[in-house]
Amino acid sequence: MSDKDKSRQILLRCHSCGALNTVPKGKLSAHPKCGKCHTPIHIMTAPINVTTAAFDKVMSTWPEYMLLEFWSRTCGHCQRVEPAINALAYRHPGILLVAKVDIDDEPALASRYNVSATPKFIIQKKGTQLAIMDGAPERNSQLIEWVEEFLG
Ligand SMILES: [Zn+2]
Repeated sequence: MSDKDKSRQILLRCHSCGALNTVPKGKLSAHPKCGKCHTPIHIMTAPINVTTAAFDKVMSTWPEYMLLEFWSRTCGHCQRVEPAINALAYRHPGILLVAKVDIDDEPALASRYNVSATPKFIIQKKGTQLAIMDGAPERNSQLIEWVEEFLG
């Protein structure tokens, strides 16, 4: 991480009181606490699985980038890109939320996003779709580069 990277301010929402906290990226590993209620802030370093029921709440409370992956347990390409998805979540906590939607369990959400084949990736910020990728790229590094270009 460069010094510029370390000082980048990250917005994190406290899951206890809902307050938005500003934390320098370099301090994320120092177990930051909420400035309002002092609850330790939970930082996502792994993808989350979202259901149709939870989706709108996750979308409306997350202030930063979100990578949505529509996947299926029977899809070989989805299995192949999993390390890249995990790496993205691990590398950009507080900046990128990686949310996975199992299309077999959540057909309503899959149809809302017109998912006809898996995997399908969507980069969003505050509910605005920034980019869509249908299908897995040839190499996992291409998926990582595609997402990281948006994170700046
Ligand atoms: Zn709080």
